[in-house]
Amino acid sequence: MNLGRWGGVVATLVVASIVVGYLSLKRWTHLTGSTMGTTYQIHFEHSGYVGLSDLEWDIEALLQSVNQQLSTWDKDSWISEFNRSAVGEEVAVPRHAWEVLQCSLVVAEASGGAFNPASLGLFDLWGFGPRKIKVTSQPPLETIQQIQKGCNIGNLFLDEANQSLKKLSDGLQIDASALTKGYAVDQIAVILEGSGLQNFSIEIGGEIRVSGKDPNDRNWEVGLQVPADYDGPAPVVELVQQSIATSGGSQDFIRIEDTVYTHIIDPRTGYPVTADQSLFSVSVIAPHCILADALATACFVMGMEESEVFMRKFPDCEVRFILHENPTINLVRSQ
Ligand code: AMP
Ligand code: MG
Repeated sequence: MNLGRWGGVVATLVVASIVVGYLSLKRWTHLTGSTMGTTYQIHFEHSGYVGLSDLEWDIEALLQSVNQQLSTWDKDSWISEFNRSAVGEEVAVPRHAWEVLQCSLVVAEASGGAFNPASLGLFDLWGFGPRKIKVTSQPPLETIQQIQKGCNIGNLFLDEANQSLKKLSDGLQIDASALTKGYAVDQIAVILEGSGLQNFSIEIGGEIRVSGKDPNDRNWEVGLQVPADYDGPAPVVELVQQSIATSGGSQDFIRIEDTVYTHIIDPRTGYPVTADQSLFSVSVIAPHCILADALATACFVMGMEESEVFMRKFPDCEVRFILHENPTINLVRSQ
């Protein structure tokens, strides 16, 4: 018997089983980067069989593609081109923009116009749009009303059969920033799931989606931001295969005299939501992050009472309100 040959076979088998063992070992990876004027954080558990550089490349390519379609800050994006299109001109809608627009229109209709993606004119007027106008005093009422008229979403015509969009009136401009981050989070989840990953969390600028378990093999938990002057514990939300998105006035605002105006505008009045209301933030928990993102913005416009009625239209979603006043008692309210 040739022991030398058997020895070689055994050694090869041992090396192969070490390699297989190593490749099957589960570990956690953290990816981070910048997109949409904010940052993203992705945590996922994977084995050595998963090609990390391919995954990173796919995620970066996805984010670029979403931005190329939906960033109003990029004058060459699809949405900026649509905003420059002539009245009646039929513009073909690419895939990401199509999905985001469809969700926008559902929430716009359900909210009776509190959520309105055709309000870019108003966002710009108050200094929150891509024209980056510096606003130091309230725009005149007539100007607000005139621009508000141009934001009538009824003048946006989405042709389902041709997957195209046209504006029926001059001055109408769209913006999908209220739900694009959530949409991108969902699309990254599709990429991770496509690589066979089950345990992960994805966050873009505070909009989050989780799957499976966290690194401690427990359900994922997300801490909600509290007002700066509140020193109690942050409320925590447990998520199971869910998403959470938060809207509030603490990220982006302007101050005019003594009033703080948030970047979220009530298209029904033409005025931004002011920070002096009792509501600090709204978080919506939903199966998909795109819907959570759109609903959180809508609820911040509507305030607590109106939102509680509105949210009944979305039975698989939940809403949490964080109040400025008396946060220890009424910090979180759910449906
Ligand atoms: P979010 O941070 O997700 O609440 O989104 C805020 C962004 O959504 C703003 O910067 C605007 O671009 C846009 N936005 C503000 N108000 C509204 C509204 N009432 N309906 C739809 N989009 C809005
Ligand atoms: Mg939102």
